[in-house]
Amino acid sequence: MLGPPGAGKGTQASKMAVALGVPHVSTGDMVREEIKAQTDLGEAIKKFSDKGVLVPNDIIIRLLAKRLRKPDCRKGFILDGFPRTIQQAESLDGISKIDLAVNLKVPDEIIIQRLSNRLTCRKCGSIYNRLTLKPRRANICDKCNGELYQREDDKPEVIQERLNVYRKNTEPLIECYKRRSFLKDVQCDDLMTPPEVTFKKIKSITDSARKDKARA
Ligand SMILES: [Zn+2]
Repeated sequence: MLGPPGAGKGTQASKMAVALGVPHVSTGDMVREEIKAQTDLGEAIKKFSDKGVLVPNDIIIRLLAKRLRKPDCRKGFILDGFPRTIQQAESLDGISKIDLAVNLKVPDEIIIQRLSNRLTCRKCGSIYNRLTLKPRRANICDKCNGELYQREDDKPEVIQERLNVYRKNTEPLIECYKRRSFLKDVQCDDLMTPPEVTFKKIKSITDSARKDKARA
């Protein structure tokens, strides 16, 4: 699942995972879990993220290779948050085979509107949105009554910078996947489009990809 930060990759990937009966493999979640578990790798990762620098490619690949070897990945998996660069895509080719890339195409102004209205629960991490997914009570989590806040990287000036970084790194990867002709674009131009509508589009793409594969 490809797409800029705030495109809804995580939401769509978890819906797809349920629909296809395969695991949702999020490299972001894997990294957070590793830090939480305080493994050697987790400690190494924490040093990078504390400094605000990207976690090196080889660490992510090691984590990912370990995850993809688990039995639940035998029937397939949905990757979310990886690869982001051509270099990562090449590393990925070395550990697994990807059948299809779904590229969520969302204009910058929509992303900025969406992310700058995003609220996160301090206690349980649930995500809300002041425009599209309001909590029942202002600034209070529906699930755990925790306080909702705006993440530092969801502030407009930071979002624009994240988008610039994304476009610079990932556009070449998207071009490369296009040439290998397994990339499908899903356009999302409207902030208020419910995730279910986007999900239907993705589902029809994966359904026809599965049929093609079965025929081949
Ligand atoms: Zn909560």
